[in-house]
Amino acid sequence: MSKPEKFFDENGLRLDGRRVDEIRPMKIEVGVLSRADGSCYLEWGNNKVLAGVFGPRELHPRRMQRPDTAIVRYRYNMAAFSVEDRIRPGPNRRSTEISKVSREAFEPVILTHLYPSAVIDVFTEVLQADAGTRTAAINAATIALADAGIPMKGLVSACAVGKVDGKLVLDLGKDEDNYGDADLPVAMTQDGDVTLIQMDGNLTQDEFKEAMELVKVGCKQILDIQREALKSKFDQFDTEEIEEETVVEAPKSEVEIDETVEVETEVVVTEEEEVVETEEEEVVDTEEEEVVDTEEVEEEVTADDENDEEPDKNTDDEDVEEGETNE
Ligand code: UDP
Repeated sequence: MSKPEKFFDENGLRLDGRRVDEIRPMKIEVGVLSRADGSCYLEWGNNKVLAGVFGPRELHPRRMQRPDTAIVRYRYNMAAFSVEDRIRPGPNRRSTEISKVSREAFEPVILTHLYPSAVIDVFTEVLQADAGTRTAAINAATIALADAGIPMKGLVSACAVGKVDGKLVLDLGKDEDNYGDADLPVAMTQDGDVTLIQMDGNLTQDEFKEAMELVKVGCKQILDIQREALKSKFDQFDTEEIEEETVVEAPKSEVEIDETVEVETEVVVTEEEEVVETEEEEVVDTEEEEVVDTEEVEEEVTADDENDEEPDKNTDDEDVEEGETNE
């Protein structure tokens, strides 16, 4: 790819038609991996990134544990097929550096002290790269962390700002990144505290100040998209849970009542006759609205103690308490 002749058209719009303060379209899907505790798939322009989070879980080998806090590990990786020229698989100098600074971008927000001796693993995989992959990976990672239920002070949002043909632009595209004068990836908390800043190229002090204002606007826009993605995931979850409860509970109460009726015909009534309690609560209003005459059941049905017994209490809870908390 060669350097474009000009980066702006006569209307001041960029190569892909964006304004200088406009980010590329972003799409976020939450909870896309069933094996991970939390996950996210993010598309940002032509970038495609997957993030998976595991933990908090006990850290092995134990000598690496910190008794007062969890440690966070972060891996940024580019798939071999993510760029035009195949990348050699495995870590390299660039990915090691990006992994380190990205991990540090989350340090101020993750409440690691709640999980002593544990580890939280964040994996980010760039499936398709088109400039801004480290910021895309951070945006995906923060959603995967939230999806995993990791307690955080807030979300982290990241975006690059740069200079192209003497103009400051938000969220550099591939050509702008390759042939621009400066590239400044930034991550910040939702309160606007900067947790990552790197700079490639040169800016004057005034340009730097202006760039920081611009990138703040970008991060705010991304934060809104992130919040929306999480909100829609958990709104949907709530609805599903309610629907599930209705579906599960309705047949349960039917079965209980059916069994009770069977008992009436089969069981020899003992001296300690007790009325089987068929509480109204047990009859759940389903969409099909099956009418069960509970009074009739109360009057007619009797049973001995055996039939009234509660199921064995699950003693597993004790085992869980005694066992290890992290998987
Ligand atoms: N890139 C590439 N091969 C590499 C590294 C990067 O083709 O080994 C491309 C990729 O599209 C990447 C862009 O160059 O998004 C800019 O890379 P940079 O190191 O600036 O990181 P990024 O902007 O992706 O965070």
